[in-house]
Amino acid sequence: MQQRSKRIDRRAALKTGAAALAAVAAAGTIARPYIARAQAAGPITVPPLPWKDDALAPVISANTIGFHYGKHHLGYAAALNTALAGPAKDLAALPLEEIIKSSRANPNRAGVFNAAAQVWNHTFYWNSMKAGGGGEPPAGKLKDAISASFGDFAKFKEALARVTIGQFASGWGWLAWDDKAKKLVIEATANAETPLHRANKPILTIDVWEHAYYLDYQNRRADYVNAVIDKLINWEFAEKNLG
Ligand code: FE
Repeated sequence: MQQRSKRIDRRAALKTGAAALAAVAAAGTIARPYIARAQAAGPITVPPLPWKDDALAPVISANTIGFHYGKHHLGYAAALNTALAGPAKDLAALPLEEIIKSSRANPNRAGVFNAAAQVWNHTFYWNSMKAGGGGEPPAGKLKDAISASFGDFAKFKEALARVTIGQFASGWGWLAWDDKAKKLVIEATANAETPLHRANKPILTIDVWEHAYYLDYQNRRADYVNAVIDKLINWEFAEKNLG
């Protein structure tokens, strides 16, 4: 009798486990219990992805998203929380953008800057993409600003791809608003650098660290960048950033 009930318990447990796995598979999202642990360690929290892990496939696979978000992005947040609990305690109450600006101005705080900027850059990157995005932006003020700044969409696309692909080593390609020149500009930044602490206002970004594309494209960075521009750019997010 006891044996039988044990067997039933095990069967029930297996059923529950299978249901949980099926739910995870249906959601297309990998369970990440370590998110709560990393975030409990300090004030910096990383928002959940704006879509399921497999939403951008086949342009960017669920495998890439799982590692990129789960290991890299959350890893930067954990490193930043560790610094804010110790040597950078004086910055712990500041908003993330202020931590970036303050640490960028202090050469002794390069590690804090790198972690903080990478937390911000990655959240901005996830929101710069969506399934079924890319191609030309819909009619509106961003499309008008692209025409006014670059001539036409084809010229803009060529410049965004060229500058982003051409970033030497790790970094980011950006579309940004130059408020002094009153026009959109394209720039590339190295490592964790971001237009945030400068005058230019970020509109959208493409991550060209190898971890963003190597599992899916190996060394073919150009194929990755062109596919993101053609199929994933979230123009609604970009237009919202234009203000
Ligand atoms: Fe990255």
